[in-house]
Amino acid sequence: SELEAQYERRFAGSARLYRRAIRLFPSGLTHDARYFAPFPIYAERASGAYKWDVDGHRLIDYWMGHGALLLGHGHPAVAQAVQTQLARGTHLGASHPLEVTWAELVQRLMPAAQRVRFTNSGTEATHLAMRLARAFTGRPRIVKFEGHFHGWHDYAAASAEPPPGIAREGAEATIVVPPNDPVALARVLESRQDVAAVIIEPGGGIWGEVPTTEAFVHAVRDLTLRHGVLLIFDEVVTGFRMAPGGAQEYYGIRPDLVCLGKILCGGLPGGAVAGRADVLDLLAFRDDPARDAREKVAHLGTFNANPLSAAAGIATLQEVATGRPTAIAAERADTLVRRLNEVLERRRVKGFVYGLSSWFHIHLGAEGRQDPQGRWWPVRPAPPGEDLAPHGLVQSLRRAMLLEGVDLMRNGGFLSTAHADQEIEATAQALDAALDRLER
Ligand code: PLP
Repeated sequence: SELEAQYERRFAGSARLYRRAIRLFPSGLTHDARYFAPFPIYAERASGAYKWDVDGHRLIDYWMGHGALLLGHGHPAVAQAVQTQLARGTHLGASHPLEVTWAELVQRLMPAAQRVRFTNSGTEATHLAMRLARAFTGRPRIVKFEGHFHGWHDYAAASAEPPPGIAREGAEATIVVPPNDPVALARVLESRQDVAAVIIEPGGGIWGEVPTTEAFVHAVRDLTLRHGVLLIFDEVVTGFRMAPGGAQEYYGIRPDLVCLGKILCGGLPGGAVAGRADVLDLLAFRDDPARDAREKVAHLGTFNANPLSAAAGIATLQEVATGRPTAIAAERADTLVRRLNEVLERRRVKGFVYGLSSWFHIHLGAEGRQDPQGRWWPVRPAPPGEDLAPHGLVQSLRRAMLLEGVDLMRNGGFLSTAHADQEIEATAQALDAALDRLER
């Protein structure tokens, strides 16, 4: 198509890199979510709300490190903290003071965090949380919701139709229940005695692609309490974003275990499990080798609580603790969502923009309805693993938006404190121009 031809011409340097990459990586990629036809853009550097590609184009960035950069790219306090630690060593092979300060900040921000254990990613955090829940309850199964993403390990990847290569035990240990349906969850918890925990993305599946109602999150807490089942909040996205204390603060709900990642580490790799002391203490040694071999939950990891991630995490969480970043990013996102919806309405384009906290999804071609507060919601949920809009349309919109200088994360993305009025206005104009391109 003409759009694709323009894209290929505009991003010629990325095309050249992609031709090398496809001889190295399957589909030329290092992360499934970065798939983009005919080729992804290659970014060279980033600052504030922007990234620059290898052809020198400046793009408004809505990936924001897959949602890890609430303070924007290269925030001075974060950059300074990392540089200071870099000079002191990247791995001390020891317990270190920064891990203590870092976990104290988590504990201060999240009342549920009686104990903390750092991991290397959000995937590792959900993996460990599920293991802890099974060990604590002595029950083998975890309930998850269809369309909710908890990383790529076998227990998280189980769904109604698990993809190839998933261990049968992983798929069978996970019970998949439709979201926003308390009756379906109640039925499972009433009929089975083998459920250790329920895990949920409290802000909605795939950062709100499948929105979760507040009433449902409360129902999940009530039902898990009633049936003596642990509740795991996967706050890898929502942690330190929906509120300084995450979705648990936003909804006023106390989960038993919390999975963290992304913002926790200020843009560097890492994650954590936090939660009830009696559950996390299954990780504790008793100096009794026989007991420890039998009862202690194992957890290792060369890069756990890496000092660089700790330094970036501390600098970020100190900012978060002021309350300003979550509030500013959410306010900017509200404005962006309103402005983008205005563009769609003015052009009489079918579709709507859904936003919550500081993320948004543009659902072109989908049917929405407005609630009394003016927020748009999908009328029907997206099919598992899919966007509300057809795949081709999501790709075309992204392509057109890139040509207009905006890098969407799939059909939307994350805002940061670096996204100001100027970037929001430019994004609304870009959507207008991108729709011109799609209609041509
Ligand atoms: N849980 C949620 C809700 C996520 O959004 C993600 C990643 O996007 C993960 C877990 C996995 O985290 P990571 O990519 O750090 O392994």
